[in-house]
Amino acid sequence: MHDPAITQLSLIRQLKFCAGHRLYRHESKCAFFHGHNYRVDIEVVAAGGGVEVDSVGRIVDFSLIKQRMLSWLDANWDHAFLIFEEDANALAAIRMVEPTKYFVMPSNPTAENMARYLLEVVAPGVLGDLGVVARKVAVWETDESCAVATLTGDAGGLGLAVASAVLIDDRYDR
Ligand SMILES: [Zn+2]
Repeated sequence: MHDPAITQLSLIRQLKFCAGHRLYRHESKCAFFHGHNYRVDIEVVAAGGGVEVDSVGRIVDFSLIKQRMLSWLDANWDHAFLIFEEDANALAAIRMVEPTKYFVMPSNPTAENMARYLLEVVAPGVLGDLGVVARKVAVWETDESCAVATLTGDAGGLGLAVASAVLIDDRYDR
């Protein structure tokens, strides 16, 4: 039997998407509409503990993390604008554009809040049935800067309601 006091196992998958945002009440240029090529590093551990692997020797197959997380990111954040629900001015502006895709955030869309949202809300919802828990999510806004959200409590209380993107685009059948 492997000793969890000596070795714990986790895996990290990298994911990429593009999105626009602005930081509500930011005192400088981040208050303007702009975008980033975001990179997300998500670290997962086995729900049962840090030494569990399947008969092949995996915590979970990397491709499943990619599939689940990327399909959520593609549907909700990729090529969308992330807007704080209290930012009525930005919401009014984005609703005037057609076609449009935006995602209403419960907090200002900083890298910190995006990392926390992915860790606390999205990951439990899309990874739960794989028998893994996301322990850490890093959101890279540039090559130099990232924010990290780390699970410090019990993951059992998470898995809150997941919002979804508003997509208004009459060019295609929805
Ligand atoms: Zn920004």
